[in-house]
Amino acid sequence: MNITGILSALISMSLSTAFCQAAPIKALIIDGQNNHAIWPKSTIMMRQYLEETGMFTVDIERSDFTWKGQAEAEYLPLANAGDSKDLPKPKTDPNFKPDFSKYDVVINNFGFNAAPWPVETQKALETYMKNGGGFVSIHAADNCFGDWEEYNKMIGLGGWGGRNSKSGPYVYYNKLGEIVRDNSPGKCGAHGPREPFLITQRNFEHPIVKGLPATWMHAHDECYSHLRGPAENLTILATAADTPELQAAGRNEPMLMTINYYDGRTFHSTLGHDTRAFECVGFIETFLRGTEWAATGKVSRTELPHDFPTPTKTSSRPFKLKK
Ligand code: ZN
Repeated sequence: MNITGILSALISMSLSTAFCQAAPIKALIIDGQNNHAIWPKSTIMMRQYLEETGMFTVDIERSDFTWKGQAEAEYLPLANAGDSKDLPKPKTDPNFKPDFSKYDVVINNFGFNAAPWPVETQKALETYMKNGGGFVSIHAADNCFGDWEEYNKMIGLGGWGGRNSKSGPYVYYNKLGEIVRDNSPGKCGAHGPREPFLITQRNFEHPIVKGLPATWMHAHDECYSHLRGPAENLTILATAADTPELQAAGRNEPMLMTINYYDGRTFHSTLGHDTRAFECVGFIETFLRGTEWAATGKVSRTELPHDFPTPTKTSSRPFKLKK
């Protein structure tokens, strides 16, 4: 190659790099049926967090939410109400058919009481993921669709929603720091009282958690435990233990995980019960990194935010709606 050829190749490389850097990541948040009253607000919070980075464009696809008998705007003042126990059961929305293939990553904000999606929509998500899609599951999204076998493989571990010992083993860290896959019978899904709790990093090389403190205090949240599932191709990034009994036993439950599902990537965060959890800087940072990783397999955020929680102190950013 002569000098002109080299120059032309270099220009073409830098143009393509510039183009890649500029191209936004296309994210889709799906929601509409969730027993956690925060759900419409949490969708808006996640959209704003993603858009503020300048790296993402975000669409929202919402299934029928009239099961609660309220308009969307009326949900917002309820957003700290936590679980709502006496809700009518939502019905399957036959018109819920997002075109997942248009997106680099799909973020699931459905919850425990969600009705099954139309079979066509379930198959569409499976195909999207098998072809290399990205998926993010947050708190309560790992409670829904307990009977959907492929969904359980995508999220690795889940709780409630009819799951039981047939769903797969418990997976946790013991006090020796070993990963235990425990097939003993028992309930699937539990949490202690809502409170701040300590997150322990278990993987210091994965880009989602690289450079974060070895331990950090998460804001008030429910610390899920006793999740079960196929847990295939599962990497645990961080764990926690919420009750004194679990802490005494040294049992630490997965809080942040990645799952490889065929060519697809899932980031699974069990965090996010209500506003306080969504405002935690630790939640926000790991959510942003995890969503980028699910979309692209890489993480460009490598700086530790100056206000990241410490091993002894929680840190939150009070949410203000920008539009
Ligand atoms: Zn919850």
